[in-house]
Amino acid sequence: MRRRAHLTTSVLIAVCALLSSGVSRARAGETPGENPAPPKFRLPAEVVGPTRYRVDLTLVPDQNTFTAAIDIDLQFAKPSPVLWLNAEKLEIKDATLTVAGEKVTAKIITEPHDYVGFAFDRSVGPGPATLHAAFQGEISRKDQQGIFQMKDGDQWYIYSQFEAIYARRAFPCFDEPNYKVPWQLTLHIKKDQAGFSNTPILSVTNADEGMKTVEFAETKPLPSYLVAVAVGDMEVVDAGTAGKKHTHIRIVVPRGHSAEAKYAAETTPAILNLLENYFGIPYAYDKLDEVAVPLFGGAMENAGLVTYGSAIIIQKPDQDTPERQRGWVSVASHELAHQWVGDLVTTAWWDDIWLNEGFASWMANKNVNAYHPEWKMNVSELNGYQGAMENDALVSARQVRQPVQSNNDIINAFDGITYNKGSALLNMFESYMGPEKFQQGIHRYLLKYEWKNATSAEFLAALAGDDRTIAAAFSSFLEQPGVPLVTAQLECHDGAAQLDLTEQRFFPLGSSGAAPQLWKVPVCVRYAAGTGSARECTLLEQKSAELHLTQTTGCPGWVEANDGANGYYRLLYQGDLLDDLLKNDAQELSVAEKVALIGDLAALTKNGKIALGKALALAPAFAQSPARQVVTKTMDITTGLQDNLVSDDLLPQYRKYLLALYGGRARELGWKAQPGESEDARFLRRALLGVVGNEAEDPEAIAEAKRLALAWLDDHKAVDPDMVGVVLSIAARHGDRDLFDRMRAAAKKETDENFRGNLLFCLGLFQDPEIIETALPIALSGEFDVRESLGILFAPSERRQTRDFAYDFVKQNWDLLVAKLPTDTGAYAPYVAAGYCDAGHRADAESFFTGRSTKSTGGPRILAQVLEGIDLCIAYKNAQEASVNEFLKSYKPAASAGSQ
Ligand SMILES: [Zn+2]
Repeated sequence: MRRRAHLTTSVLIAVCALLSSGVSRARAGETPGENPAPPKFRLPAEVVGPTRYRVDLTLVPDQNTFTAAIDIDLQFAKPSPVLWLNAEKLEIKDATLTVAGEKVTAKIITEPHDYVGFAFDRSVGPGPATLHAAFQGEISRKDQQGIFQMKDGDQWYIYSQFEAIYARRAFPCFDEPNYKVPWQLTLHIKKDQAGFSNTPILSVTNADEGMKTVEFAETKPLPSYLVAVAVGDMEVVDAGTAGKKHTHIRIVVPRGHSAEAKYAAETTPAILNLLENYFGIPYAYDKLDEVAVPLFGGAMENAGLVTYGSAIIIQKPDQDTPERQRGWVSVASHELAHQWVGDLVTTAWWDDIWLNEGFASWMANKNVNAYHPEWKMNVSELNGYQGAMENDALVSARQVRQPVQSNNDIINAFDGITYNKGSALLNMFESYMGPEKFQQGIHRYLLKYEWKNATSAEFLAALAGDDRTIAAAFSSFLEQPGVPLVTAQLECHDGAAQLDLTEQRFFPLGSSGAAPQLWKVPVCVRYAAGTGSARECTLLEQKSAELHLTQTTGCPGWVEANDGANGYYRLLYQGDLLDDLLKNDAQELSVAEKVALIGDLAALTKNGKIALGKALALAPAFAQSPARQVVTKTMDITTGLQDNLVSDDLLPQYRKYLLALYGGRARELGWKAQPGESEDARFLRRALLGVVGNEAEDPEAIAEAKRLALAWLDDHKAVDPDMVGVVLSIAARHGDRDLFDRMRAAAKKETDENFRGNLLFCLGLFQDPEIIETALPIALSGEFDVRESLGILFAPSERRQTRDFAYDFVKQNWDLLVAKLPTDTGAYAPYVAAGYCDAGHRADAESFFTGRSTKSTGGPRILAQVLEGIDLCIAYKNAQEASVNEFLKSYKPAASAGSQ
């Protein structure tokens, strides 16, 4: 599963309707005495499990419910008077169990929430039996979980999303990843529509009343969360074949969108071939369909039927952008990597979900680098790793391998720690072990566990064979939260040089964390030696260690203590090491190493090791780099200070600083792509103009953005498609009622999902109080699909001037919000307070959301992290405000700044 990074989109990904498992347990105790006790959390695997499913679904778009039946072949390991399955929002009509040709009636137990029990009139088992159940379920119009429907144009289409715990909304089942068995699906659909599932169609037969029956081949062993369906008036684009087994690939789109699938159809075979070559195992399934799902906020690796948000997989050729295409190749690489890591070999339980998600993220990065090295995906990925480090600095951070003991834990497991830290760890140990040895280990792992489940311990044993050191070091990062802070100090004596290394957990100022922690950290360094450089690695296992730099005589001129930026640690240079590196424009460093260094500088202002004023003074040296990734990384240090750190009287100075850093190059690049310019220039233009207009508030940029926004509203050709978001956001932040009305009307007519998303988000960016008060209710009014208009609620919380409106609106409309928004979106509501930086709002948010957002699945940890973020902001402001303002007071742009 791949989620979009943007907060407002992550909010769109609703989580399930369960109350916390604590509540489930409480209710279980209230179940009438004659019913056998339901499971506490997991189903009793020691009693009974499935061996095969047959599912029969009648799916008609634009209906609110579906009817269905399921037959589950079971194997009882011991006698039991009851069979417990997972089920949610299902109405079971009747059920019978067949044992040795004899029918046993089952009484249906509908409590507690999350489960259905089938109580028999006698004990059943040990041995085989088959359960038959007929039932009805919901085709949701507000959620994107279970079986749901989305509208494209005036047509409804049905799709499914079962990961992590939503297959139970489609059929009663053993909804845990360890139950991995074959499934056979049959769909009853309208004659003029198409139906898709994980496998090829075996037969189609016409039925009565304009319906037909579509029977699919039995699947290979799959957990419930990987089963999928899609139904509607879809078009199919042939994408040829790929892989050793010449697998047939198709792109499935809503009617009228075939031309937009061109890039996906052209690139999928290459993506699949590269993955197959790396894994050394052929693609395992009989076909591959990739499905465009309107408004879907992510992508899902269902075996043989991968779903993607339409905005990811399709685009009109004349509106397409390098960003969309790169995003597509990256997401497709992630989902298709899952066909091996996740589908062929499945995590045994959700506590090891990093084996699916960290792995697929790491493999996607590797795959994109192999396919398009010039895109420098490894540098983009590094930003993801550093994002994980930021989250990992919280005391409320999850471990990569966190015990999963409730539905809250399952939902929380799909976070940046699982995806990005998991990926970063694979990257670090690949670099430490060497890529070839690492690849062989992965091949061994996949071969050993194909069609089965695996755990972290099994992965590590297969990866490193007899080398226990690797497994122990890797585990030290999987089994404890936090990011190490490594300090490096150079010592030179008698012609010999050594690096003194220490490790401790990185805690920001204001953190309540203090407990000592140790990791076994692979540290690889590069340093000046002779006329070139040398590399040396060590495993830092104790609080401190020495690394002898054996290939230099005398003191090396420079040392990079995180070679290739492959280490998952923050780095603090002692003595002159940093200054030595920065000499000569840090020319010894790669682009990735420069990005890591800037990210570390930003982080070190957070724990007080570097004054923010000093970091602001260092940023200009990097801001004129030829590598756009380096330029944009400086924004980690320089932007976003206006809301909490810069005093009002110094705002003009701060804006002058930003303009000096980015204004000249922004002006050079202009607002429109030039013929023949590089894709890097297009990315840089957008980033620079975004800062110049939105943060430096340059009057010229604002005026131009307003002019372009109006022109674009008349004619979309007036603005490059990748500039639309920036143009509209700058214009909206400084816009009047007339512009607001025009944007709102345009959003209603807009047929492009990306543009409509831009427009809706921008409705929340206007600063005039009257406009904000008109905008916020639109999120809940039904004027737009709520799955799309949710962003309006969060947009005003980005800025100090408008934050209160969004926060107060959420508080005042809580009950309506919970009723209207997708199930469990309330878990994410505390993000509306995430920008605050004072004790009063912190206390208010805690008292308001406790008992409210925490009732949604995944809610408690999200609230804890938002509150901890506010605490850290308060401490950061106290520590760094003076240094920032002192820097700005005396700041004068260098004569040449901004012109290079
Ligand atoms: Zn994934």
